[in-house]
Amino acid sequence: VWKYSCFQGSALIAPGIYVLSTYNQTRNSMPRPSNPALEDVLGVQYPVLDHGYITLIDYMGNDDEIVRAARASISAGQKISDTKSLIRHLVKNRHTSPIEQVQMKFQVKMPIFIARQWVRHRTAKLSEFSGRYSKFECEFYVPTLDAIKAQSKVNKQGSDGELPEETKIKAQETLALNSAEAFDAYVGLIESGIARETARELLPVNMYTTMIWTMDLHNLLHFINLRMDSHAQYEIQKYAVVLAKFVYIGFPLLWEAFEDFTYGALTLSRLDIVALRLIGDFHGEKFSEECKTKVEEVFKNVSRSELNEFFEKLCLITGYMVDGQTKQG
Ligand SMILES: Cc1cc2nc3c(=O)[nH]c(=O)nc-3n(C[C@H](O)[C@H](O)[C@H](O)COP(=O)(O)OP(=O)(O)OC[C@H]3O[C@@H](n4cnc5c(N)ncnc54)[C@H](O)[C@@H]3O)c2cc1C
Repeated sequence: VWKYSCFQGSALIAPGIYVLSTYNQTRNSMPRPSNPALEDVLGVQYPVLDHGYITLIDYMGNDDEIVRAARASISAGQKISDTKSLIRHLVKNRHTSPIEQVQMKFQVKMPIFIARQWVRHRTAKLSEFSGRYSKFECEFYVPTLDAIKAQSKVNKQGSDGELPEETKIKAQETLALNSAEAFDAYVGLIESGIARETARELLPVNMYTTMIWTMDLHNLLHFINLRMDSHAQYEIQKYAVVLAKFVYIGFPLLWEAFEDFTYGALTLSRLDIVALRLIGDFHGEKFSEECKTKVEEVFKNVSRSELNEFFEKLCLITGYMVDGQTKQG
C-alpha cells in the first residue's frame, strides 16, 4: 500500500513511512540488466594526460535495454527486428529516446580549462570538487612537448604546426614554474587565515579538478562526436577517446551504428551536392582549373571555409585532392 503525503492548508504534512508492498502484486521475472564487459572495468582508473583519469562508477543497461525501450512503442504481435537492425534503425533515423534510457556514471579528473569545456554539455548531471570546501592538491597539467603546437593560422581556435624544440621546452618550463609559484602563493594565503574561496582565485586553469559525471548514452555519443573530433582541443580529445572505449566495449552494436551513421558519416550541404553534380559532369577527368573555378563559383557567396571543407569531403570520398594529386582518404 502507498501512503500519500497531502497538503493541509498550506503545510506539507510529513508522509511517514512509505511501504511498497509486494502483496497481491504480479511479479514478472525481470533480473537487473547487467553488462559483463562494463562490470569488468567498473572502478578501474584509466589515466588521461599527466594526472587525470576516468573511472566508470556505475552504468545502466546494455544494447538489449536500448532495444527493450524502443519496443515499448510496438504492440504485441507486431513484427520486430533483431537487436542489431533495430539499433541501426534508431541511430540512422535519430530516434534517440530509447538510447537516452541507458546511462553511465563516471568519476573524471581533468584540468579546469577542460572542465570549462566539459560542463557546456548541459544534458549531464554533475557534482564537482569544491575549492571553497576543500584545499586543492598541488596538481597541474603540463603538456608534453608533442602537445605544444603553434597558433593555427587557419583555425583561430586551434593550434597547428611545429615549433622549435627550445621554444616548446621553454613553454613547458614556464607553465610548470608559474603553476608551482601560484600554488605556493595559494598555500601562503590559506596559512595566513584567508578563506579558501578567496585564496583559490589566484590558481591557474591548468589546476586539476574532479567531478562525478552522469550522462545518458545518446548525449554521451553527442559529446564524443564533438570532442573526439579533430577540431576539439587536443586535451579533451584524449578524454573523449577513453569515454568512447567504454561505449565501444559496453554497447558494441550501438557503437558500430554510431560509427557508421554519425562519427564516420559525412553531411553534405545543398551547395556540396550542387558542386558534386558539377564535378560529375567532368566524367572522372583530371580535376582541371576550369572545374575548380566552377566549384568555387558555387561557394562564392559563403565563407571560404565551406569551400575548403567541400574539398576535404571530396578527398575523403574519392581520394582526390584539388591540386591534382591523389591521396587515399
Ligand atoms: C570545437 C568546439 C568549439 C567550441 N567553441 C566554443 C566557443 O568558442 N564558445 C562557446 O561558448 N562555446 C563553444 N563550444 C561549445 C558549444 O557551443 C556547445 O555549447 C557544446 O559543444 C555543447 O554542445 P550541446 O549544446 O549540443 O550539448 P548539450 O548541452 O549536452 O546539449 C545536447 C543537445 O540538447 C539540446 N539542448 C540542451 N539544452 C538545451 C536548451 N537549453 N535549449 C534547447 N536545446 C537544448 C540541444 O539540441 C543540444 O544539442 C565549442 C564546442 C566545440 C565542440
